[in-house]
Amino acid sequence: MSFLAIENLTKRFGGLTAVNDISFSVSQGEILSVIGPNGAGKSTLFKLIGSFLKPSSGRVLLDGAVVSGRQPHQVAQAGIVRTFQETTVFKEMTALQNVIVSHQLGLKATPFGAYFSTATARADARAAAESAAEILDYLGLGHVKGELARNLPHGHLRALGIAIALAAKPRVLLLDEPFAGMNPEETDRAVEMVEGIRKRGITVLLVEHDMRAVMRISDRIVVVSFGSKIAEGLPAEIRANPAVIEAYLGQDDETIGSY
Ligand code: ADP
Ligand code: MG
Repeated sequence: MSFLAIENLTKRFGGLTAVNDISFSVSQGEILSVIGPNGAGKSTLFKLIGSFLKPSSGRVLLDGAVVSGRQPHQVAQAGIVRTFQETTVFKEMTALQNVIVSHQLGLKATPFGAYFSTATARADARAAAESAAEILDYLGLGHVKGELARNLPHGHLRALGIAIALAAKPRVLLLDEPFAGMNPEETDRAVEMVEGIRKRGITVLLVEHDMRAVMRISDRIVVVSFGSKIAEGLPAEIRANPAVIEAYLGQDDETIGSY
């Protein structure tokens, strides 16, 4: 049984088939990247995996249990979490407070007022603060944990979004273009960050345009074009795959084969 199984996922929007019968499986602790030209269906595929969209057909299984069709928060509780956009960062809180709050939001199901006054709540708050500090440290944000989020540079804000997602203790982390808009130095740091996340046993699914980063970081790559999977393999195999090179022809902003 595979850890994460994507089985025959299809998503239609009216007459457009954005994701067409895609299947692949992911091992625990793997970094798997999904690449493909703009509009290929990558983000839609991730939304299906995170259950932010309902598939037209097909299903997603985690550890043998079907997660597709469930609510996004249930899927998150099952362990599949995607990164938060910068807009969900609280700009007037520090980096540390942002991650602590997301731990506490993860404690759910208890009325806030009642919960925060209990001894359990105080113990949980201490544990959340320790865990938040640890996450920021291993993402390389330890030195800015006391900074207000609104003062953080773009790259750090992205990393903070990942820290917030990690507070939910995911088993699978979905990252849709985490390196977009980063300069090469920020990208290098972010690549190390993703490797650090994997070292902690978290499986990482990545959609990314930065081919240099993708080739460096991925254990395996799935290539999507016009909604369909056209290739799957090791980075070296993907680089040399004629169908992949063909799919990328004519795209200026994405190159393959040269890395
Ligand atoms: P990618 O992330 O690979 O660039 P997307 O998954 O965002 O591609 O989009 C795949 C195709 O599906 C595109 O043609 C896009 O316009 C279309 N699409 C995505 N989301 C929707 C939606 N909510 N409604 C209609 N069409 C959509
Ligand atoms: Mg996209």
